[in-house]
Amino acid sequence: MNIMQYALDNYKEVDAKSYLGIFGDPILHTMSPLLHDTLSLNLGLDIKYIPFHITDNLDQAVKMAYEDGIKGLNITVPHKQAVMEHLVDIDEAARVIGAVNTLVRVDGGYKGYNTDMPGLAKALLDEGVELNGANVIMLGAGGAARAVAYMCLNYGAKKVFIVNRTYDNAKKIADDMNKAFGCKRIQPVEAIDYKTIPKDEYIMIQCTSIGLHKDDGLPLVADESFYDMAYVGVDLIYNPSQTPFLKMVESKGAKAVNGLGMLLNQGIIAYEYWNNVKIGKALSDKVYRVLCQKVYGHDSDNIVLVGYMGAGKTAVGKALADRLGYDFLDTDEYIVQQEKMTINDIFAQKGEQYFRDLETNVVRAMKSNLTRTVISTGGGLPMREVNRILLGELGKVIYLKASAETTYKRVSGNNDRPLLAGDNMYDKICNMLEARMPKYIDAADVVIETDNLTIQEIIDKIV
Ligand code: NDP
Repeated sequence: MNIMQYALDNYKEVDAKSYLGIFGDPILHTMSPLLHDTLSLNLGLDIKYIPFHITDNLDQAVKMAYEDGIKGLNITVPHKQAVMEHLVDIDEAARVIGAVNTLVRVDGGYKGYNTDMPGLAKALLDEGVELNGANVIMLGAGGAARAVAYMCLNYGAKKVFIVNRTYDNAKKIADDMNKAFGCKRIQPVEAIDYKTIPKDEYIMIQCTSIGLHKDDGLPLVADESFYDMAYVGVDLIYNPSQTPFLKMVESKGAKAVNGLGMLLNQGIIAYEYWNNVKIGKALSDKVYRVLCQKVYGHDSDNIVLVGYMGAGKTAVGKALADRLGYDFLDTDEYIVQQEKMTINDIFAQKGEQYFRDLETNVVRAMKSNLTRTVISTGGGLPMREVNRILLGELGKVIYLKASAETTYKRVSGNNDRPLLAGDNMYDKICNMLEARMPKYIDAADVVIETDNLTIQEIIDKIV
């Protein structure tokens, strides 16, 4: 596939029935693959979501994706506006907003949508925040603010003030949206004139980038008394979870909501467009928990090594833990100690199922107990879907990949492997690798080819 040349290195080997993806620059830290792959995994759909690093030649990238059969794409910074020129159709709301974050495959190309807007609306609904008839103060007038202003009018807000450092940017949004809705409900306000806003009770929505960086000091309006007017404060930023704006709002006793719900819901709405499915609350909640764990989880500083036997998980894990000053834990070792039996004996006397249940229990227990630990997992542990999800919540998952030849060289002569006992060890390795590799890739945030690397080189790559 041509478009794969833009895929981040870690995704180049992925083999799935169909593909989704995201175009952006930068793209390394996007949460979207985790969000969408968790949905696919839970729905049993063989779809992989791939981040593509697209810096320029957007038209060519869109064409390639279409020719390669990519069924849907997200578009993020800096391409949300520019991509509109390369689509065969654009949803009306996205056209008015002037930004597209979702491409849906149709005849001859892609149709563009903006799911940020309904995504935030759904997040507010989930928090019990009613826009219909409400007064709103928006802080900020950038690209995301256009979607927020559209949302406010679309969902029936009574009055909206857009407060911005640069008055002209706020005025442009207000003019465009008032015109689109045939109303005068939005009013622009230059930030220094914030006192002109009438005293009332407001939903405040923070749409500037102030707070993205930990040392960002005060919100756009620094005057504390301004926030007495907020009964709920919403920040589009989700990382960090607490921004100067949210702290201010909370200090006034108002409800504070960050942008993770918006991220979740814009993704779910896009996924529903692409796959013609309806995501229920239980799955939506599950994905939210996975995202939370990844973005804020106290235990996300763990490093989890997955891979087939002989991939070097234990040797690499121990050396890596030494290098980082982390603890080391091997799930097989742990089970042996708990059960006071070798793995061979557990398999022989209690059966594989029993052993697999032990593995799931161990991962569950680790989730609430471990931080700053390198965890080496048994080769079969990621085969269970629940284990893969738990591993993702536990920390950064790294797949140490080794070919069948390398594996054979490393494990032949070793009798501790119950699943390889008997004749034809090489064939057994090939068959098991074929079955297991997709699951390892599914579980992994990062894949490292270990065939030609020393332990030290693998550790360097991880670090
Ligand atoms: P833009 O760059 O388009 O707009 C930035 C806005 O912040 C402008 O209003 C700008 O004001 C203002 N601003 C930036 N720095 C300052 C400063 N030092 N002082 C005062 N005002 C400032 O960004 P976006 O609209 O694309 O994104 C805004 C935020 O929303 C980002 O933090 C982004 O992470 C978040 N977001 C979250 C999403 C989610 O799913 N949760 C989705 C999309 C965005 P001016 O006009 O004067 O330059």
